[in-house]
Amino acid sequence: MASIDSMNELLVDELRDIYDAEKRLTKAIPKLSKKATNDDLRDALDQHLQETEGQVARLEEAFGHLGEKVRGKPCAGMRGIIEEGNEHVGEDYGDDDLRDAVIIGSAQRVEHYEIAAYGTAIAHARLLEQDEVVRLLEESLEEEKAADRKLTELAESVVNLEAADAEDEGDEGELALVGASVSRGRQSSSARPRATASARGKGSPASAGRTGGRSRSR
Ligand code: FE
Ligand code: ZN
Ligand code: FE
Repeated sequence: MASIDSMNELLVDELRDIYDAEKRLTKAIPKLSKKATNDDLRDALDQHLQETEGQVARLEEAFGHLGEKVRGKPCAGMRGIIEEGNEHVGEDYGDDDLRDAVIIGSAQRVEHYEIAAYGTAIAHARLLEQDEVVRLLEESLEEEKAADRKLTELAESVVNLEAADAEDEGDEGELALVGASVSRGRQSSSARPRATASARGKGSPASAGRTGGRSRSR
């Protein structure tokens, strides 16, 4: 294989790697989306699929600016991340929310890998004063970051523990199943911790709040 002996060649090589990664993702993201249950998660994945197709086009434009052929070079990293994601998502989950949580985790691994790859390529394009390439790559980098932020937001909202349990057990079962610490803790987080601690009463005031969870086992 030819050696890479200039920063320009290195940049082209990096772009070929990213190009391959993005092309893989245009096939992988729809599979994740199909397995997702939550509407917002599906929408986010579908939207990012469209962005990914645009990113492929931007890379093709970047090759043009550099006077290089549009060509990918197998990205072993992305291949592995996609493979691992498919493995995890394919497990049996007792609840669809749990699978959604795994899909989010897999997608965020993808985004972080892309963010790293674009960040390095942008630095190298900047060194080479390839302003137009920098601009194209930065546009894609911003989309990757926004996708990652959206996934973080979904990670905190998609899995609804109380609703998941309520589906199985009905409303009364919900309280019993979710348990005192989770559901009461949520309702009372602003007002009641101190009252709870003093209602339990035993022990020093300072330690009562912090060790409150343990007192359930008495
Ligand atoms: Fe991408
Ligand atoms: Zn790669
Ligand atoms: Fe992405």
